[in-house]
Amino acid sequence: MHERSLVQDLLRQVERLMCEHGARRLLKVSVSAGEFSGVEPELLRIAFEDLAPSSAARGAVLELVEVPLEARCGNCDHLFRVRRFQFQCPQCRGREVVVVRGEGLVLESVTLEYDEP
Ligand SMILES: [Zn+2]
Repeated sequence: MHERSLVQDLLRQVERLMCEHGARRLLKVSVSAGEFSGVEPELLRIAFEDLAPSSAARGAVLELVEVPLEARCGNCDHLFRVRRFQFQCPQCRGREVVVVRGEGLVLESVTLEYDEP
């Protein structure tokens, strides 16, 4: 299952962050899943609920934001939403477009809890 390995990667990133910041507990993790990432939000949640309890993220809340596919035109620099996989700039009709958002799964933020000083 694709989502399962994504969650494993995500948990590794979270554990590294917690270690770097000396955090005791993870309260919340926010991730964005791109429209074009092939991620099934429901399967991602199931994988998280399955894997998180045996990781440093146990008890944490998963916040999942779905983001649309956006691209930037290499010709006129126009930023636009890609619809129906039309990779063409709506402004200048250029086809040299670069996807800037909406691919893959991105760790956006974490909410950490620290030990009392
Ligand atoms: Zn353009």
